This record gives sequence, C-alpha cells and structure tokens, in this order.
Amino acid sequence: MKIRTRYAPSPTGKMHVGNLRSALYEFLIAKHDGGSFMLRIEDTDQERFVEGATEIIYRTMEKTGLIHDEGPDKDGGYGPYVQSERMQTGIYMKYAKELIDKGEAYYCFCDKERLATLKSEVVEGKEITIYDKHCLGLSKEEIRANLDAGKPFVIRQNNPTEGTTTFHDELYGAITVQNSELDDMILIKSDGYPTYNFANVVDDHTMNITHVVRGNEYLSSSPKYVRLYDAFGWEVPVYVHLPLITDENHKKLSKRSGHSSFEDLLEQGFLTEAIVNYIALLGWSPEDNNEIFSLQELIEKFDYKRISKSPAVFDMVKLRWMNGEYLKAMDDDKFFEMAESYLKAALTKDFDLKKIAGMVKTRIETFNDIAAQVDFFEALPEYDVEMYTHKKMKTNSETSLEVLTEVLPLLEAQEDYSNDALYATLVKYVEEKGCKNGYVMWPIRTAVSGKQMTPAGATEIMEILGKDESLARIRKGIELLQNA
Ligand code: GLU
Repeated sequence: MKIRTRYAPSPTGKMHVGNLRSALYEFLIAKHDGGSFMLRIEDTDQERFVEGATEIIYRTMEKTGLIHDEGPDKDGGYGPYVQSERMQTGIYMKYAKELIDKGEAYYCFCDKERLATLKSEVVEGKEITIYDKHCLGLSKEEIRANLDAGKPFVIRQNNPTEGTTTFHDELYGAITVQNSELDDMILIKSDGYPTYNFANVVDDHTMNITHVVRGNEYLSSSPKYVRLYDAFGWEVPVYVHLPLITDENHKKLSKRSGHSSFEDLLEQGFLTEAIVNYIALLGWSPEDNNEIFSLQELIEKFDYKRISKSPAVFDMVKLRWMNGEYLKAMDDDKFFEMAESYLKAALTKDFDLKKIAGMVKTRIETFNDIAAQVDFFEALPEYDVEMYTHKKMKTNSETSLEVLTEVLPLLEAQEDYSNDALYATLVKYVEEKGCKNGYVMWPIRTAVSGKQMTPAGATEIMEILGKDESLARIRKGIELLQNA
C-alpha cells in the first residue's frame, strides 16, 4: 500500500512552529517511503478565517522545501483540495445523510436557549456539555415538518451511551474511553458547513490518506472519529498525535515568547534550513547522535516510530547554535549575499563589506548578531583605558602607551595599508623589540576597535579602516593613555 499523508492547515494566520512540525513529519513519512504528500486547506471555520493566511501557507511550504505532490494547485485526482470547495460538491451532506440512514447520526433542531439549559460538567479542568439526545427522540414526521418549515438544524453524531471505545495511536498506544463521555458532536453546522471533526474523517478517507499526523490537542476527540470510521465501515488511518511543544519554562509556546511562528524566527535572523532541521528534532531523534540534517538526509533517516511522546522543549540556545553551524558551513558568496543587507544596516561608510562578511561568518549565530560584531568599524566606541591591561599578553597602560607611541611613526610612514603589509611592518617591530606578538598587537587592536572582542586582528581591522581612520584611532589611544 502506498503511503499517503496530508498537511491540512486551517488558514487562520501565521505558520506556527507546531503546524510546521506536523507538515514536516507528514512530508517525511511520505517521502521516506516514496509515498505522496498532499496539501488540503481546511477553511470551513468561517469565523477563524484570516485573509492572506492561505498565501502564508503556500509560501512557507515552498520556502521550507515541503513540496506537496497534490493540492489545490496540483490536481492528483482527489480534488477539490479546499474544504469549502469540497462542500460545494455536497460530499459532507451526502455522508452525513448516510449516517442518518444508518441511525449513526440525527437532525437536531435545538435552539441556543435550549442548549443553554443543558448541564455542564468539568472534566480535567475543561467544562464540557454533553448533549442530551433530545432530538434523537423526534419522529420521522416531526423531522419532516421541521425541515419543510425551514427550521435551522445541525446534524449530530449518535454515540452509544454504554460500553467503551478504543482507538490506537502510534505513540500513545491504545486509548479507551467510556462511551457515556462521548458527546454527540455536531457533524454539520447550521450554516451547512461541516465541522472539522466530521470533515477530517470524510476527507482523510475519500482522499485515501494512510497516516494522520497532528497535534495532541486532537487526541481526546479521536475516539469520536474512530466511531465515525466504524459507522461508515471505513479503515482507520494510522494516527500519530505529536507531543506539545513548550518554551524553556515548560509553558505552551505563545506569541509573546517570540518563537511561536516560522515568520517570527525568520525575522529573528534564522535560516530556513536551520529552522526546519531544528523543528525536525522537536519530538524526534535519529538513531545516532547526529543533529545536523539537510531535508534530504531527514527523508532518509526519518522513522516516525522514533517520535517521542514527552513534551518537546523549544530551546532557543540550541536553535541559535544550530543556525551558527549552518552559517559556518555556508558557501562564502551565498553568505555575503544574505549578510549584505545586515552589514549595510550597520555600516554606512564605504567599507569592504565582503571582507567584513568573511570576518563575521564563523563568529555569529544569526544575522542579527552582525551589528554588534561590526559596529566599531562605523565609529570608535567609548572605551575604558583598563582594556589595555591584559595579563596573558603582559600589557598594561604603560607598556601600551610605549608601544603605541613607537608604532605611530611607523604607521604614519606606511603607504600600503593591506593586512599583509601592515602585519610585516609590525612583526618587524616586534622582532626588533624582542617581545611577543600580543604585547604589540593587543594595544593596537584595542586602540583601533575600542573593544575587547573583535571579529578580526589588529592589522585586518586597520586594512578595513584605512590609513587616516586607523591613525586617528591610535592617536586617540595615546591621548587616553597619557591622561590615565
Ligand atoms: N485544520 C486542522 C488544524 O489546522 C488540522 C488538524 C489535522 O491535521 O487534522 O489544526
């Protein structure tokens, strides 16, 4: 049997990390096995529909490389692929009526007022109301009369009140519930639209879906889906309900935490490949301890039986590390192409940005780190004279003042401000002085950068700054040290 999976987003806004994980796992399960990955747009909840959200879905799928084999824009013979369009074909009503004929569903004409009088109970912290099957007792004639009178109705599932229902999840195993706890959930709403609960079953079956991957918020409803499958006499797909993703404080990822959606992460300067790689590991781990995977490698390695059911913690520190690994491995030209706008935002003067890009490439974790690495090129920051003191380099204010005063005329006389030429000049001075490199380079680097940590050494920095600016900064250093 060929594996067929689907990603079935509701167009309700941004692409949340949890959604992207479901899409990724669905994609990987299909591709690992040479199967088909389908995109279905679940837009039947008109109230939650957000303009532009469908475009976000397409854009994200394309950008992340989760290319679907079938979908609204790619007919694979199972269309339409948008639920509102499927509704127009009458498919949901047809199947709902089939259930009515079988006694597995019924018309319900109860109005809001009556429903408000139903008893509710608190189960596991959630208030639930179980419909009392009032309309199940209506005679054929009463139903006919209500329908003819145009009375608004919903169609409800008719669940048994005794016995148990068991369903199987790949991760959670067999889950058994008391049928008395199963509400007669609505299958068709009064606006004629199917509920998610009904549409997902009809669609997954009629679209030949073999594996369903989704967040575990659907776990508690799943017994009702199984009852629908049974009522129709359809085969239940393999269900994989994924563990919750939490932030570092073990709270559900929220918009406020800043890493709840793919777009948020891109805005924070993360690379698409690193995000996908990281999300793959939110609940899944390979057999070996390797953690860096391209999408192609993920396809080869992914085994959904290795998904864990313990909550996955979204660890920003780890994502940052991973992103840094991707940056280090990136081809230099591509890195420059991507880093250029960040460099330009930080540096307005006429610097060799390509060279600066080469300096920061292995030192940053995200593009947003660039500004803090390179800002000293633009303007010398205020710095403390204490910075000239370095134990290991055996430098202090006095030695630094001496060195800077001695190298100043050499650097004034120097015409060639290339890194190599400057380095040769300074090394010659070091040899004549009979000291260590650092004894000379530390104060110079401090003077030209005003920083303790820089992405490059003294002479590389001077090459970028050019002669005038380098000399001005060294003179400034001398002045500072004289006044110390
Ligand atoms: N439309 C549902 C959602 O976006 C899909 C759940 C599922 O994959 O079945 O949450």
